[in-house]
Amino acid sequence: MTQTVEKIRCDACPVMCFIAPGQTGACDRYANADGRIVRTDPVLMLSRSLTTGQRIVPFAAREWDGNPLPADSFVTGIGSGTTYPDYKPAPFIVSSVVDGADMVTVVTEAIFSYCGVKVKIDTDRHLGAEGAVVRAGGEAVGHVTTAEYGSQMLSLGGVHHLTGGSKAEGRITCSAMLALCNGEAVELTIDGGSSVVVQAGKPPIVDGQLERRMRVGCGSATIGMFASQWRGLVDEVVVVDDHITGVVSEHQAGKVLDWQPTGIKIKGSRSTPGRYFKVSDPGLGWGGTRLTDPLEILGDWNAKKGARPGLTMLMVSTTGEEFGYYVLDDDLVPQQQPLPEALRDSVRLIDENCEPSLCTVLFMGGAGGSLRAGVTTNPVRLTRSIQSGETRLTSGGAACYIWPGGGITFMVDVTRLPKGAFGYVPTPALVAPLEFTLPRGDYEALGGHLAAIRTLDETQAEGGEYPTAARITPWPDQGE
Ligand code: SF4
Repeated sequence: MTQTVEKIRCDACPVMCFIAPGQTGACDRYANADGRIVRTDPVLMLSRSLTTGQRIVPFAAREWDGNPLPADSFVTGIGSGTTYPDYKPAPFIVSSVVDGADMVTVVTEAIFSYCGVKVKIDTDRHLGAEGAVVRAGGEAVGHVTTAEYGSQMLSLGGVHHLTGGSKAEGRITCSAMLALCNGEAVELTIDGGSSVVVQAGKPPIVDGQLERRMRVGCGSATIGMFASQWRGLVDEVVVVDDHITGVVSEHQAGKVLDWQPTGIKIKGSRSTPGRYFKVSDPGLGWGGTRLTDPLEILGDWNAKKGARPGLTMLMVSTTGEEFGYYVLDDDLVPQQQPLPEALRDSVRLIDENCEPSLCTVLFMGGAGGSLRAGVTTNPVRLTRSIQSGETRLTSGGAACYIWPGGGITFMVDVTRLPKGAFGYVPTPALVAPLEFTLPRGDYEALGGHLAAIRTLDETQAEGGEYPTAARITPWPDQGE
């Protein structure tokens, strides 16, 4: 018997692939299995009562395997499929009873043309100027945004890179975001700056060097934290920092400890006493400056203001990784000497107070578009319900931060989602799981698709729009 080799069309996204038997479509998420479009990954379900292991359970099984699902099984959007173009109900609308209350969870895999990735890189090193273009594979995929306390921030993706540039730019932006969201390492280069390997939950690698620690604070904060521990052990302390270099004898912390003037002169822009901006250019050296020799930031010492031969000085970076001990000679020139044992503990304490350097990747998407029609016949009511906190939005079970203001603009820490939760379609756009959970009464009032509500048992017995299996695993630690 010859099997008809007939391609069939997948209509789960605007690409509308024609898929040959046994093949998958362009996104690998759908396949032609025996003349039917199937979702290739199982639907992921999470259970708190399932504490170890995982098992595959049949959906739409003709034969019951006798193994009931735990009653607390939560159907996630991962593997659930998409209901493009969204006029039909979401793939799974599941009723449940939580603490005696009737609840409904609407589950879908949403396609995001409007989405981006915010990356926080814990490092003092200067990676590139604010606004500099960030590239992956040579294509512009984002830019450097405002530095935060101890971290450099990148803003990647977004609709302009996905759809507003060349095809290659859109394709590479999409694949870089997908890899980052799925916890893979991505090498990024910054125009006029560094190359950095970013991986969610892992230390960054800056220009080939693994970053170990983020700084304890800015130079001024470091003075504030440790001034009392230096008192009596050294005459001057300078904490070198690209943003705010601190000088203990002039700093308010030194003043309250009755620290004596030393006649030190810092080449930089004085902000307030003992706090200096722009002592150097940003770079990969001491405290995020380009300095390899911190003495470059010192001017002549002033004997009239307290400088004297034998005066001692500790210079240290904001991570404690770089430090030097100096004594003024007869010409009031600092000469480096070994760090005295008595000061070692204070330098170690800076080091100890630095937290491990990590990369954080937040997926940010706008869920305010047509996918809302898969939840309710009156989409704006869903937006309002989420804004008011009545409907809880999760992504692959992970809690989301919802931006105030219009739309459903949310952010989620990608390390909180199960592995491989994100997908893509070549429009190009990212695919991310979403679950909307709310009391059943509120769902009715919202104009929800009541006829599509099914119990967990019914969901398992009937499956989704596309044949698939389900995988049930313990709920990952959500840190809650
Ligand atoms: S890209 Fe994927 S979802 Fe879109 S039509 Fe092709 S197989 Fe279906």
